[in-house]
Amino acid sequence: MLHDITPFTLLDFPDTPAAIFWFAGCNLRCAYCYNPEIVLGEGCIDASEALAFLQRREGLLEGVVFSGGECTQVPSILTWARSVKALGFGLKIDTNAMRPDVLRRLLDEHLMDYCALDYKAPQALMQDICGGGSESRFWESFDLLRTSGVDFEVRTTFHGGLMRLETLEMMAHTLHVRGYRKPFYVQRFVNGVATLGNLGDDHTKAVPMAYVQWR
Ligand code: SF4
Repeated sequence: MLHDITPFTLLDFPDTPAAIFWFAGCNLRCAYCYNPEIVLGEGCIDASEALAFLQRREGLLEGVVFSGGECTQVPSILTWARSVKALGFGLKIDTNAMRPDVLRRLLDEHLMDYCALDYKAPQALMQDICGGGSESRFWESFDLLRTSGVDFEVRTTFHGGLMRLETLEMMAHTLHVRGYRKPFYVQRFVNGVATLGNLGDDHTKAVPMAYVQWR
């Protein structure tokens, strides 16, 4: 089920006017997550309602972004993806990279046109930052995309209270060593909003521009 639909964006899917489907639920619990109502909720918009919305937007939209929450942990996500593609829309997947098995199936069926992949943290910090998860699953997802021919980007969220700057630099370096040549987007932690971990001040201003491209 969807928590919500953003009817139009020019910012989230490169070169593609798109809607965003916000899937409820997530398989991680990141301390900096500013969508607790999506992560902990069950959603109220079903597939028939969402697809009817898209049919009314044919000719106005060119793509759909599956975001959340975490769309890849939704059991029916392949059905959702097939339905969106059957209507002629491009599909972007926003994912925390913890379900490479699902990404593989999306790629095998040529359902995904673009992917934004989170590189959350090195394994030693995954529990503290994300409440679990696996860095090796990130690399499995990364390698799938790197060899797929499907365009993708890697991004992270940095909060200085959760991660040292040197760690962020090491992540950027490791991406480069593993063959990544595009921007490593570091998203700004948003001050003053409710998060899963009730975090305080933003420390992201300390990140040097040389290593990352900001979003
Ligand atoms: S920030 Fe973490 S908890 Fe929040 S939706 Fe993304 S992966 Fe899930």
